Amino acid sequence: MAVCEILSVGTEILLGDILDTNSRFLSRKLAEMGISVLHRAAVGDNHERLAEAVSTALDRSDIVIATGGLGPTPDDITAEVCCRVFGFSLEENKEVADKIRGYFSRRGIEMPLNNLKQALVPAGGTVFENRNGTAPGMGMKKDGKCLILMPGPPFEMQPMFEESVVPFIEEYRSCTIVSHEVRTMGIGESAMAEICSDLLESANPTVAPYCKPGEALLRVTAKAETAEKADELCAPVIEEIRSRLGNVVYGVDVSCIEEAAVALLKEKNLTVATAESCTGGYVAKRITDIPGASSVFKHGVITYANEVKEKVLGVKHSTLEKFGAVSEETALEMAAGIRRISGADIGISVTGFAGPDSDEEGKAPGLIYIALDAEGVRLAEKTETGRNDREYNRYVSASRALNLIRKYTEGGGRP
Ligand code: AMP
Ligand code: MG
Repeated sequence: MAVCEILSVGTEILLGDILDTNSRFLSRKLAEMGISVLHRAAVGDNHERLAEAVSTALDRSDIVIATGGLGPTPDDITAEVCCRVFGFSLEENKEVADKIRGYFSRRGIEMPLNNLKQALVPAGGTVFENRNGTAPGMGMKKDGKCLILMPGPPFEMQPMFEESVVPFIEEYRSCTIVSHEVRTMGIGESAMAEICSDLLESANPTVAPYCKPGEALLRVTAKAETAEKADELCAPVIEEIRSRLGNVVYGVDVSCIEEAAVALLKEKNLTVATAESCTGGYVAKRITDIPGASSVFKHGVITYANEVKEKVLGVKHSTLEKFGAVSEETALEMAAGIRRISGADIGISVTGFAGPDSDEEGKAPGLIYIALDAEGVRLAEKTETGRNDREYNRYVSASRALNLIRKYTEGGGRP
């Protein structure tokens, strides 16, 4: 199996000013091609250290991919240093130079001369077109080794990788790796892992648990000659996971709970309206993040103050007095109120303490009630995140509310 090393070039990465997302992108894409990434390094814009990093990488790997440092300024030294180390000289490429001149003249800006530095490409190498910027990418092959240089900005690098680099390194591809994500909500990572413990031992596909805020996931990854064959290996394992975990699974390969919830509402032709307190509109925001939400989302209100909960939603004064704003009873009346005033099929509500401090009654941050009101159905769920983290509590409360919509809708209008 071919071995690849990724070099992220730029002092800003070492200083922590930017996050090296290029390596992550490339690691994933290379894994899909069956190319092993055994080392990744970040190196500043410095001649000696960059030369040393490239030289070490070329010694131990078949493919070296560097991103960053291809710009026009004096600190952009990647092409010069890497080509020298690999034994390629730089020459001006007329096509690239014309393209750079055209880029400036189209914008009516005088081109600073240093921009032509980006037209210097390795003699005998391959130039990768940059559709989103001026610096082209470069590929060189020698003695079975391959060196790739690409610009740092992700929106330039990513399409260049897909369009030009993937075909350039095709000969190193050994297989295809396909991953699917089974996403769950309402079960902890360890409980989920316990139920699937024997599956976690399997070799192809592998099954790996991990978690995100408020949810637990299982990643099913198979390796095969083709994507279709890899999918065939994954399918029965995903089915088995689904049947063991039941309705805590909210989707496979969906990007988030709101996507799953909105898709189901559309499928079942149901509408929803939201009444939120501690989440401040987060549930409505996340529903309306999904394109096409207008066919399922009717109305959203944020009722922060108690008197507004009474006036707008019709929560009874006595309920607030007796049980408090953060209670199952209040949540249920909020959900019923928003369903009534919006005419939606489903009313959903959230009320809780996001923190970081406890309330006057000493109820802990992270205590959240969610309720759903629909024809003949009143559901409430209590959550205690046990966390003192306002953002986390708000995000997770919103997720739980979305998940309650999903569970109700998935059950064909039953909980
Ligand atoms: P450069 O090609 O060095 O001029 O990089 C220009 C910009 O690209 C940087 O300021 C970052 O915004 C971005 N960039 C460079 N390297 C990376 C990386 N490894 N990950 C994500 N963004 C990057
Ligand atoms: Mg740079």
